Amino acid sequence: MKPIIIANWKMHFLLAEAVTICSKIMSQDLQCNLIIAVPSPYLAYLSDKFQSIQFCAQNVSHFSDTGAYTGEFSTIMLKSANIDYVIIGHSERRNIFAESDELIAQKVYCCFKASITPIICIGETLSDRNNADYRPFLIERLITALSALDTTQSRLNNIIIAYEPIWSIGTNVTPTQEQLTGIFADIYYFLQQSQIANNAHLVYGGSVNLDNIQQILNIPNVNGVLVGKSSLDYRILLQMLKLFNAIF
Ligand code: PEP
Repeated sequence: MKPIIIANWKMHFLLAEAVTICSKIMSQDLQCNLIIAVPSPYLAYLSDKFQSIQFCAQNVSHFSDTGAYTGEFSTIMLKSANIDYVIIGHSERRNIFAESDELIAQKVYCCFKASITPIICIGETLSDRNNADYRPFLIERLITALSALDTTQSRLNNIIIAYEPIWSIGTNVTPTQEQLTGIFADIYYFLQQSQIANNAHLVYGGSVNLDNIQQILNIPNVNGVLVGKSSLDYRILLQMLKLFNAIF
């Protein structure tokens, strides 16, 4: 897979604004795998209109079958709208909507049933980092997120794992190069050993901007970035895409 840039637009932009930005992006020569996580009501429309851009859901139901689940939509429904990616377990879903590791594991399983690539987010709070050995804690979180899969399923599909330290999201503070090198080595080693998701792609998220993106992409085992705030300014997003073209 080419290096990945995931733009997480969260709950920003009206449809007309999203269309304008996507039109500007469409004219670019993309040397990376650009995935834009847009608000759910726009997914089907944008993926039909801009076929050279990949769109991503920011959330999905943990129920896989159709049923009386008002307000929910399934991975199978996403697939029917030509959506191939969904962010699972973002810290805002975990914290604001109280999503548990177990619920996240069910959502990951639903992705495999529908051949959707989950972008599984894991990260530690500042107190996790200060009070305990956060590296084994992160691996535990990953083990739980993958716990509903078996090795056959994991080989059939792609998985993207986003390491997003919660204290770095939207704060302009990022871990040091050494810290990132260590944690990505841990995640990579765990995935290789586990036989679950050993073809996963690893990305970093948390205050990625034009000043630090290149350094982050140089870290071993990092195959891309997940960008929140910086991706809301299309000029910055376009510059990031140009930078990817220059590097890769
Ligand atoms: C995020 O919300 O996943 C994120 C990475 O945000 P930011 O880039 O703003 O830190």
